[in-house]
Amino acid sequence: MAVENIQGKYITFADGEYVIPDNPLVGALAGDGIGPDIWSATQMVLDAAVEKAYAGKRKICWQPLAAGEAAFAATGSYLPETTLAAIAKLRIAIKGPLSTPTGGGIRSLNVALRHHFDLYACIRPVRYYEGVPSPMKRPGDLNVVIFRENIEDVYAGMEWVAGSEEAEALGDYLRDKLQAKLRPGSALGIKPVSPEGCKRLIRSAIQYAIDNGRKMVTMVHKGNIMKFTEGAFCQWGYDLAKAEFSDQVITEDELMTKYQGVPPSGKIILNDRIADAMFQQLLLRPSEYDVLATLNLNGDYLSDACAAQVGGLGIAPGANVGDGIAIFEATHGTAPKYAGLDKVNPGSLILSGKMMFDFMGWNEAGLLVEKALQKAILGRKVTYDLARQMEGGEEVSCSAFGKLIVAAM
Ligand code: NAP
Repeated sequence: MAVENIQGKYITFADGEYVIPDNPLVGALAGDGIGPDIWSATQMVLDAAVEKAYAGKRKICWQPLAAGEAAFAATGSYLPETTLAAIAKLRIAIKGPLSTPTGGGIRSLNVALRHHFDLYACIRPVRYYEGVPSPMKRPGDLNVVIFRENIEDVYAGMEWVAGSEEAEALGDYLRDKLQAKLRPGSALGIKPVSPEGCKRLIRSAIQYAIDNGRKMVTMVHKGNIMKFTEGAFCQWGYDLAKAEFSDQVITEDELMTKYQGVPPSGKIILNDRIADAMFQQLLLRPSEYDVLATLNLNGDYLSDACAAQVGGLGIAPGANVGDGIAIFEATHGTAPKYAGLDKVNPGSLILSGKMMFDFMGWNEAGLLVEKALQKAILGRKVTYDLARQMEGGEEVSCSAFGKLIVAAM
């Protein structure tokens, strides 16, 4: 039965599984700056993909939610309680970029959302789409999915201004009780890294690899220097694999000692790499890597570096996922100079929609989106960012690019 006229139903979450009705209510936060432009193109593409894939049997019932500058103008809050309550009930949402309000003590609305909902895994798949201008000789060799811990590490928001009462008090404690050598007047920050926080992130990376036929999970860390935080991240990952995935996962050491370097079929290899070496590895031997698990700061750097290799942030998708709530998002910012010009590339948000479909088990719609985007890029009528670097590229608007993607389905 077609669902067109049926009111949407809530997505539910039980025993670690999302239950997705055929007409799910899904939150849509257009965002600030270029957000409304890219959201409008994205909505058109995602709706067309669902219609094409399921011929009216499935349909997303979008629930527009206010956040950012528009929300502030209407309610006096950048992140209204009603929006937070709605996301909690809807469980899955997609969002455009949000500008960071200046002043008012808010660091970033995105960080606020991640912390509010404990969205501990920032997931960024990075792969190449043929025809996208790239600085690399063989950009297609990179096809990784980065799982970045989203809550802890130096991003936990625990830092104090140099010379402040708090920094001085903490400095005194560290000097007196722990014999730390600290210059007076230092700014101080804390890097919390917990077993629970690391294990749940690495667990989701391993589970993703199992569910998606990936071959390897690499833990990226700087444990040679920060032994008790970054080093522990890596050790807890090995402990977790042994305790929870011993049937599915072998370590790189076991691969060499027990299997003579030949990966046994059906097993995922767990290894680790030092972060600085990893930046080189991803440039020089990208095809050797698959799923990456990282702490917060390393993952932030690494995901943008990887996105640059395949053509930049304009088409890099992302998601912030917790237990029972997932928010899919464009990875770039609000690019305010292009706001309202119908100019920028909607690819990042569109591919975040593809991720959302895959997450929901609507893989047919996800595949359609991805293939159509690839076809549209090969057609060389693209937004300015791609056109300016593409030989023979013709610039089209954001909405026109969206229509070309729909036409390519
Ligand atoms: P930005 O908005 O990402 O823009 C930087 C540049 O990236 C743009 O000038 C443009 O390059 C290019 N770009 C970004 N999105 C594009 C798209 N869809 N298509 C084509 N090109 C695109 O970074 P920003 O200027 O540093 O940040 C602006 C605001 O966004 C800040 O308030 C920041 O806090 C916020 N922000 C939000 C998020 C988020 O919501 N997830 C993430 C990052 C930043 P050209 O100038 O070369 O054309």
